[in-house]
Amino acid sequence: MKAAVVPALNAPLEIRELDLPEPTAGQVRVRIEASGLCHTDIHAARGDWPVKPKTPLIPGHEGVGIVEEVGEGVDSAMVGQRVALPWLGRACGRCRYCVGGHETYCTSPEYMGYTIDGGYAEHAIGYASHVVRVPEGVSAFDAAPITCAGVTTYAALKSARPQPAESVLVVGTGGLGHLGLQYARTFGCRTIAADVTDEKLNLATEQLGADHAVDARGDLGQQVGALGGADIALVTVPSPAAMAAAHAALNPTGRLVLVGLPADNQLTLPVFETVLRGISVHGSLVGTRNDLAECFELHAMGRTTVIAQSRRLEDVNECFEEVLSGSVPARLVFEF
Ligand SMILES: [Zn+2]
Ligand SMILES: [Zn+2]
Repeated sequence: MKAAVVPALNAPLEIRELDLPEPTAGQVRVRIEASGLCHTDIHAARGDWPVKPKTPLIPGHEGVGIVEEVGEGVDSAMVGQRVALPWLGRACGRCRYCVGGHETYCTSPEYMGYTIDGGYAEHAIGYASHVVRVPEGVSAFDAAPITCAGVTTYAALKSARPQPAESVLVVGTGGLGHLGLQYARTFGCRTIAADVTDEKLNLATEQLGADHAVDARGDLGQQVGALGGADIALVTVPSPAAMAAAHAALNPTGRLVLVGLPADNQLTLPVFETVLRGISVHGSLVGTRNDLAECFELHAMGRTTVIAQSRRLEDVNECFEEVLSGSVPARLVFEF
């Protein structure tokens, strides 16, 4: 099978011809139809974060395709089903976080495209217990970005307990943010999009239904304050400066939710304003299987539009550059 492989950290990806992997007990093999490019894949390939991925590595945690073979103990009825292979490749199901409904914080997880091989390949292995079924009416192309970008912003917003008519600031309207804006609308919130290019700001108001758009090149606190401030700020960009700017845009009792992971890993926030305004700051990592199933359901109901462009896996290195340049409207998806 054809796969894009990170041979060593910080080396360009190589397109290789590999043996077809066989599913072992509890696993399924999926014929990949579409696989999204998440910024995390670039961080993984470069070894940017404190915990390093395996190498060689097949990246990708937005793989979607058809189950073609099942391992021992897996219901053969899964063959032929369209499933997604999300970041949470497997969770133990027994630790206090799994049992408590917070499986993304499992103490012994496997991560697709990080600790185990992911979806940048014609075929991929997943755990039957943790692949998520894609319902009828949701294409593989649309399902791919929802599998990380969608569920990450959906679960992050849920974690901030949005109330109808509250104001949600989404910083970064790309892969994650373009879906985050739509989920915020679905929760009944007023939405403010922030980004650094006119194209993305226009996209937010004209195609994604944002109520307001503000230019993140300017003073975010001032601009959002003029719109009544934000009750929730969802920062999708891996930038400590953007996180601090979003904090300054929050109303009293506001919630700052972090999902982007900056390579430099440090954030400075003012304690005085945090205390006096009763502001909460918390992180949110992807979403549970239930969260992803809900995202697919919302998409099937027509509540979300996926903005993505199709690419060939052979062009993976150019695609990384394209994403880093900021020229991609929202998401790139490799189609097979
Ligand atoms: Zn991702
Ligand atoms: Zn667990």
